[in-house]
Amino acid sequence: MKRYDLIIVGAGPAGLSAAAEASKRGMSVAVFDENAKPGGQLFKQIHKFFGSKKHKAKMRGYRIGEQLLSEVKGIADVELNSPVIGIYPGREVVVRQGDGIVHYCADSIIVATGASENAVPFEGWTLPGVMGAGAAQTMMNLHGVKPGENILMLGSGNVGLVVAFQLLQAGCNVKALVDAAPRIGGYGVHAAKIARCGVPFYLSHTVAKAEGTSCVTGAVIKRVDEHFRPIAGTEKHFDVDTICLAVGLSPMSQLLMMAGCDMEDNPKRGGQVPVCGEYGETSAPGIFAAGDVSGIEEASSAMIEGRMAGICAAAYLGFCTESEKWTALCPLKDDLNDLRQGMFAPKSHGKSLETTDEGILLSGTLLKKGHITSEEAERFPGVVHEAGVHPVIECTQNIPCNPCQDVCPKHCIRVGSNITALPEVDKSANCIGCGMCVASCPGQAIFLLNENCAPGFATVTLPYEFLPLPQKGRKGKALDRAGKPVCSAEVVGVKASPAFDHTAILTIKVPSEMAMDARFFKEEGA
Ligand SMILES: Cc1cc2nc3c(=O)[nH]c(=O)nc-3n(C[C@H](O)[C@H](O)[C@H](O)COP(=O)(O)OP(=O)(O)OC[C@H]3O[C@@H](n4cnc5c(N)ncnc54)[C@H](O)[C@@H]3O)c2cc1C
Repeated sequence: MKRYDLIIVGAGPAGLSAAAEASKRGMSVAVFDENAKPGGQLFKQIHKFFGSKKHKAKMRGYRIGEQLLSEVKGIADVELNSPVIGIYPGREVVVRQGDGIVHYCADSIIVATGASENAVPFEGWTLPGVMGAGAAQTMMNLHGVKPGENILMLGSGNVGLVVAFQLLQAGCNVKALVDAAPRIGGYGVHAAKIARCGVPFYLSHTVAKAEGTSCVTGAVIKRVDEHFRPIAGTEKHFDVDTICLAVGLSPMSQLLMMAGCDMEDNPKRGGQVPVCGEYGETSAPGIFAAGDVSGIEEASSAMIEGRMAGICAAAYLGFCTESEKWTALCPLKDDLNDLRQGMFAPKSHGKSLETTDEGILLSGTLLKKGHITSEEAERFPGVVHEAGVHPVIECTQNIPCNPCQDVCPKHCIRVGSNITALPEVDKSANCIGCGMCVASCPGQAIFLLNENCAPGFATVTLPYEFLPLPQKGRKGKALDRAGKPVCSAEVVGVKASPAFDHTAILTIKVPSEMAMDARFFKEEGA
């Protein structure tokens, strides 16, 4: 039986980060993953991540995956197409490889198996065309296949919002975003990106039925009351061929249970999770858990948890001293704490959001149907009015994120040392209109305004991640935050630079009075 100092199950962000730390300390490490490609969820994530520089903020998920792979290259055995089917006493790990079953043993094990998508039953839910939002993302971003043409998305958490936007980028029509809750579940900035493309939000609604006989041909949604009971007579029909479900994730913790670890049912962490110490130590000596398997969070936190578990496994087997262990753990603990300060961190679940029938109250602002109004936007410290070009930051929630502060060469934007603070614009600094803030904001929430570029006219510079890029001189409509056409607009500038990492910035000219309303551009005939 082949023996390793450490066996890691799962080559996602947590598993690969753990492998990097353990291998660097001299351990022999094998990482087993069931997939043909390593990286877990990361290679599907084509959007830019939140956080700060040390959390790899403003990098796209797949690029973070490439970095992680190069970190473990040559120092850990990454075995693909290798589902682990059992962990038995004596830390025996059973893996299906090729046509056979192979037994390995290890002096320590890190389980980093991630999470699986939840489903929700309704009439017709087993028809082809009903799928997890993560499955739709795999089809689009890994295999280059559109999951359908006309889509209904159920679930307004970050997964539903991110995948809905990516479906639009892939050229699908997202006909509606539906959620039974009376409020948006994910980041307001993700919701705002979709709303300004014209996708309607149906909060306090659920899917009642998928229509069709051999595949989905339509969907019926219904309004729900405050106890989530469907209200008769409120049915709405949509012509769709695909219904995506983004209704939560559950930790894939079965291997930990099988290994004899103490488990608990913890709704704040997504379900059945191992009882863990701060650094992923389970109740079974030498067995650690890291990433979504120990509680649903994000790739950024999964990577830190993986590093912590890798360091602790190394210390457990004497590959580093206790003092070396703590020296390495302390900064990681600080990084993780930073990420967990936001309103969406597990400890904040259900606490910081006030809801009403119409939506969600954020810092006193009602976020209705996925977008704020111009009047509501005025309340935020990033929204200012001054002569010349200046940033307008529509960042409305305490998300741990600060690339806008880091990238501005003129220090016009300030978040401060608390990365969950709302960004402020320093009116005394001189914005040069370079657009770095617009392109770097992972929430696409920054616009550059020149409210009087010519008598009666203003320019609005906005982030644009759709192809084909409109060309300079093209005419069309400016859309407001709800995706409603509000005035004619002309493209007067298009910038795409390697520094913008595939976020183009588009400058449109609109009547002055529309400067605070125009937030998206639709070309004539598009
Ligand atoms: C649509 C979407 C958008 C997201 N956006 C962001 C974002 O912007 N920022 C962010 O930080 N996070 C984001 N996340 C979350 C992030 O992707 C996850 O939190 C992160 O991938 C968890 O890392 P992990 O290593 O724990 O698990 P995973 O990435 O899921 O990796 C686990 C790996 O283990 C493998 N595995 C499971 N069981 C076995 C087994 N028995 N044998 C062998 N292999 C096994 C799996 O196939 C997988 O490859 C997003 C997630 C989704 C779905």
